[in-house]
Amino acid sequence: MKKIVVVGTGYVGLVTGAGISDFGSKVCCVDIDKEKIESLNKGVIPIYEPGLKDLVHRNVKSKRLSFSNDIEENIRSAEVIFIAVGTPEDETGKADVSTVIKIAEIIGKNLNKYKVVCTKSTVPVGTGRQIINAINSHNQNNIEFDYCSNPEFLREGKAVSDFLRPDRVVLGISSKKAYGYLKDVYRPLYINKTPLINTTIETAEMIKYAANAFLALKISYINEVANLCDEIGADINVVSEALGSDGRISPKFLHPGPGFGGSCFPKDTKALIHIAKKYNLEMNTIDAAIKTNHYQRQRMFDKIENLLEGNLKNRKIAVLGLAFKQETDDVRESASIDIILELMSRGVSIKAYDPVANDSMKKLIPDIEYKLNWQSAVEECDAVVIMTEWNEFRAMNLVELKELMFTPIILDTRNILNISELKRLEFKFDNVGRK
Ligand code: NAD
Repeated sequence: MKKIVVVGTGYVGLVTGAGISDFGSKVCCVDIDKEKIESLNKGVIPIYEPGLKDLVHRNVKSKRLSFSNDIEENIRSAEVIFIAVGTPEDETGKADVSTVIKIAEIIGKNLNKYKVVCTKSTVPVGTGRQIINAINSHNQNNIEFDYCSNPEFLREGKAVSDFLRPDRVVLGISSKKAYGYLKDVYRPLYINKTPLINTTIETAEMIKYAANAFLALKISYINEVANLCDEIGADINVVSEALGSDGRISPKFLHPGPGFGGSCFPKDTKALIHIAKKYNLEMNTIDAAIKTNHYQRQRMFDKIENLLEGNLKNRKIAVLGLAFKQETDDVRESASIDIILELMSRGVSIKAYDPVANDSMKKLIPDIEYKLNWQSAVEECDAVVIMTEWNEFRAMNLVELKELMFTPIILDTRNILNISELKRLEFKFDNVGRK
């Protein structure tokens, strides 16, 4: 059984640690955040992720999973190290890898025996080499180590099943010895014939950006098609279904909406453009996907303004859904943020509700009313905007909704409500590409 340390216990680090311990290794997840580790040690999971609580508790109980703030000691005792700290964009759109490099230096200082160092964080092409140099610059006793780029493809909201049953595992690594170590770590996947793609560090780094940028592109593309459907009177849901049934296209990521958000697509698309710029290349399609994404948010705002006939000042609007997508409490880069701030700047008072993300949004936007259910959010409102595709909103009783509201006006940015029902109840409504 390999001894593993995962550095950074966030959305990726915690799922990675719990998942790898479930595969049979002994894992310690470490973090600088004392509160987070304290709560994990008390059995409290700091994020909302379906299935994660059970996975963590099961592996803590079997003594394969533990949590600590002692980063150096756990690095010293580990055979395999996963780096899973954040790589946010800097003010120019470039990925800020300074925390990753800091961890690499700590690893270098604490190298006491052979280790495999893997990066799960999404880092620009070339960072792997920088990490190796950073480790070496502190590796005073010249202890042997190997480096692997092991990008993570999990989706928040489905992270546990994505980690335990991935489509593929990418291992950017040249050493046979280290590959053997990682085959051991991912043994259940290897036995189940999950493809392990063994490639170079640079190719592995590139795969992650190429995948995220492609998915972002797909979302922006379907949003543009939806906007055209709006104008010509076509139904985007039928268009998407027909498109998706083409095996070359696939139905995934063909849902129109208020634009992509989250902690990955917005920053990774910008970072890819930055990487290309270094080589005097333009990523025109990705550039267009980002522009379309900005436009999409503005378009949602314009739709609200039109529904309220330009009269926003002193109106009350309920925003249902704050997370950037369903089944997560993550509000990073959520389209709701832009919509709420823009509405507030126009004198609208907001009542917001999300099944799990109220607290995360409160940290970013403290001065709006947060409600504990959709009914109290929509009460006496002039309009409702659905921003996240939670099942709870899909199942809303529209008769009850109409009775609670001051005026029955609704913008459904996720196309989850039944149009015939909205018409029958005489709602004034709009959506994305389903006029
Ligand atoms: P996160 O912000 O949720 O977690 C990062 C964690 O690192 C935090 O708990 C933070 O306290 C900790 N940390 C920061 N500095 C540290 C230090 N010096 N030492 C130890 N811990 C430290 O971030 P995340 O969403 O888990 O993303 C991590 C990386 O994985 C990013 O590069 C991201 O692009 C990539 N990624 C994210 C997802 C996703 O869906 N969130 C999916 C695939 C890849």
